Amino acid sequence: MVQTSKNIAIIGSGLVGSLLAIYLKKKGHSVTVFDRRPDIRTIEFSGRSINLAMSNRGWRSLRKVGLEDEIKEIAIPLDKRAMHVNEKPVYFQKYGKEGEAIWSISRGILNRRMIDLAEEAGAQFRFNEKVWDVDLPEAKIFTGVSEKSEWKEYQYDLIFGCDGAFSRVRHKMQRRSRFDYSQDFIDVGYKELTIPPNEDGTHKLDKNSFHIWPRGKFMLIAMPNIDGSFTCTLFLPFEGDVSFEKITNKKEAKTFFKTYFPNVRKEIENLIEDFFKNPTSAMVTMKCYPWTYWNKVALVGDSAHAIVPFYGQGMNAGFEDIYELNELMEDHGDNWELIFDKYQKNRKPNADAIAELSYRNFMEMSHKTADPKFLLQKKIEKKFAEKYPDKWIPVYSRVTFSERPYAEALAIGDRQEEIMQRVMSMPEIESNWDSEAVENKILNLLPVDQI
Ligand code: FAD
Repeated sequence: MVQTSKNIAIIGSGLVGSLLAIYLKKKGHSVTVFDRRPDIRTIEFSGRSINLAMSNRGWRSLRKVGLEDEIKEIAIPLDKRAMHVNEKPVYFQKYGKEGEAIWSISRGILNRRMIDLAEEAGAQFRFNEKVWDVDLPEAKIFTGVSEKSEWKEYQYDLIFGCDGAFSRVRHKMQRRSRFDYSQDFIDVGYKELTIPPNEDGTHKLDKNSFHIWPRGKFMLIAMPNIDGSFTCTLFLPFEGDVSFEKITNKKEAKTFFKTYFPNVRKEIENLIEDFFKNPTSAMVTMKCYPWTYWNKVALVGDSAHAIVPFYGQGMNAGFEDIYELNELMEDHGDNWELIFDKYQKNRKPNADAIAELSYRNFMEMSHKTADPKFLLQKKIEKKFAEKYPDKWIPVYSRVTFSERPYAEALAIGDRQEEIMQRVMSMPEIESNWDSEAVENKILNLLPVDQI
């Protein structure tokens, strides 16, 4: 359905704000994007900043506006995990079926490209302009240098809050009655570290793998960049025996890396350097509802649903918000109230589901990877899924390599877990795990419609 052109403000020129600008321009709207930061295209960075995993949902959203191929040129496909377990050679675990991969992409490079593309599509950008307040019923925003300075006032037909986990637009909505809001920080923080390329510019580790050094309560991961480097992320508790608070100088950092990550020993100097240069950041799950205000204001991306990064889905979920908003725009034309209402009702259960799955993955990685019974369960599941790929699609694949709703992946995952709990209570499961009896038990427990 054709839409009447509207004058629209997007608050936030991050990944979600810039992709939304492209979608809205394609629909013929007038779009201005505000960001409190300077233009990321004018900021020097090595290209080795945070990188993200883009999977099916993200690609579908880019494909819809013809950008998939162009963005794939700045991404690297990863078809497997490379597990670095101490005292064992590196081993590889395929992510999915043949041809399935997640893609490593630099957040900074992607963001620059998306802003270029949004500008080419005709969106206006106003950088260094922080939004301090929003008049929701009038769709007005107020920007200025500081909270106390004089503010500029702008009025629009519609406002989209794409201003991230600590959204100012949401902050204003929070002051309304019956607005639900929660935020939960986890006790683990993260730090970005870099493994530089070889002298000839090649990658030091396998470049088509997502590298993981699991160490129980903490872990190191590494994803490749197109310049030959790897961005590593160290996830470590803030407090406790092995924690950020215990690493206060270079000597302690060296001992930490040598003890727990002996196979990245060659890189230690660089990791230590970065350790003290780069900040330690926190991770939060943020939930809220409603996400919209009548036909005037809507939250999209992290401003509506920030999640911990252990499923690599935050950006993917934000891009999927846009894809679904667009479908609703096509169905309902100028009925923005209906579009916004359906948008929040459809997306909220899915945002809650991916928040839950991401949190569970964090708990699994930090609390269960050392539990032999849990590891055995995973082994049985893996074997069964390999033998019966159409009867048992693992939750990871349902989230990462599918576009079915996140809520469905969570529900099916819960049913699979119930089956596995019954399998795990079979007598002498430890010695019989590989038996036909176990396989038959799963087959018998599977529902008729399969899962
Ligand atoms: P943001 O990227 O936070 O952008 C918000 C923008 O709004 C910023 O530019 C900010 O300057 C601007 N802004 C804020 N307040 C104001 C204001 N008052 N006025 C004007 N402008 C304002 N996701 C994945 O899909 N895959 C991954 O592998 C992945 N890995 C991650 C790893 C880590 C360690 C973390 C922390 C996150 C990861 N994510 C991942 C999540 C992903 O980074 C976010 O979901 C995504 O960046 C959210 O985009 P956004 O545009 O909604 O918000």
